[in-house]
Amino acid sequence: MTKTFDHGGGVRSVAVPIPDNPLGHTLVHVVETDRGPVLVDTGWDDPASWDTLVAGLVACGTAVSEVYGVVVTHHHPDHHGLSARVREASGAWVALHAADAAIVRRARGTRPERWFTYMAAKLAAAGAPEEHVAPLRTARGRRLPGLAAALPDREIVPGELLDLPGRRLRAIWTPGHTPGHVCLHLEEEHPARLPGHGRLFSGDHLLPRITPHIGLYEDPDDATVADPLGDYLDSLERIGRLAPAEVLPAHQHTFTDASGRVRELLAHHEERLAGLLTLLAEPLTPWQLAERMEWNRPWADIPYGSRNIAVSEAESHLRRLVKQGRAEPVTGSEPVTYVAV
Ligand SMILES: [Zn+2]
Ligand SMILES: [Zn+2]
Repeated sequence: MTKTFDHGGGVRSVAVPIPDNPLGHTLVHVVETDRGPVLVDTGWDDPASWDTLVAGLVACGTAVSEVYGVVVTHHHPDHHGLSARVREASGAWVALHAADAAIVRRARGTRPERWFTYMAAKLAAAGAPEEHVAPLRTARGRRLPGLAAALPDREIVPGELLDLPGRRLRAIWTPGHTPGHVCLHLEEEHPARLPGHGRLFSGDHLLPRITPHIGLYEDPDDATVADPLGDYLDSLERIGRLAPAEVLPAHQHTFTDASGRVRELLAHHEERLAGLLTLLAEPLTPWQLAERMEWNRPWADIPYGSRNIAVSEAESHLRRLVKQGRAEPVTGSEPVTYVAV
């Protein structure tokens, strides 16, 4: 069954399923413009998801062939997956921030072996045991997700209005979950006149009941020592200051009091960083830290792929603590260990 929502003021949403994923669905937001609907995100590239999107647009009183443009919050496949099909069916432009467009471009040009070599080296340096790293050394030829992701036609420029004739939709750069994640601010009075400044399409940046994954910006071709968690916390504060009347995220449900949610998340992350410092009373590799961190299940029950994500998250927290001067690498340790200062 196709689920659509009418948020008033020419904004609707279609819940597009993500196959085999506990998140359930991506909310594709449909913004009416003078030239036809503009979509914020498109959903996972899967036949059933596509059918749901197509039927959902009809339920919204339009059709996929009418779509004028596609604004993508970030390059992840549950957001950008169907962009190419929508473009094919409609001739719509597809817009993405330059930093995420660069990831799409590189993923298309990267041989899977290069990615596996990078991951094997990275995990070994993080202190992963040999039995965890070994499968990556022999994984050549496996298919990587995102290889067929659409190259965008347009760049989302932070602070600028997007091409939505008759509407005011401004891009706000919110790096952290990905380097090019953007939120989109609909600078129009709320249709129910809720207090605050317009409405915000928040992608994965600000969600009502979960926190997005913040790992490293994994990129075999970029040696920059980025601080994604620092980026994310700065981006949260930016959204808190914006104080939108209502938030329309890409998962779960709409909510008000964005500033309250931002405060909650900032407090959650500070608490988590403080908890990690306690663990770092003894020197630990990123792998050992990940093993000791709190996850939604015991470490022994975390599957292989999710452990890689967990280590990336541990590393992003270490980067933040080092940057804040609260932890430091132990000189001469190999693989490198970190300890609270
Ligand atoms: Zn995402
Ligand atoms: Zn997502």
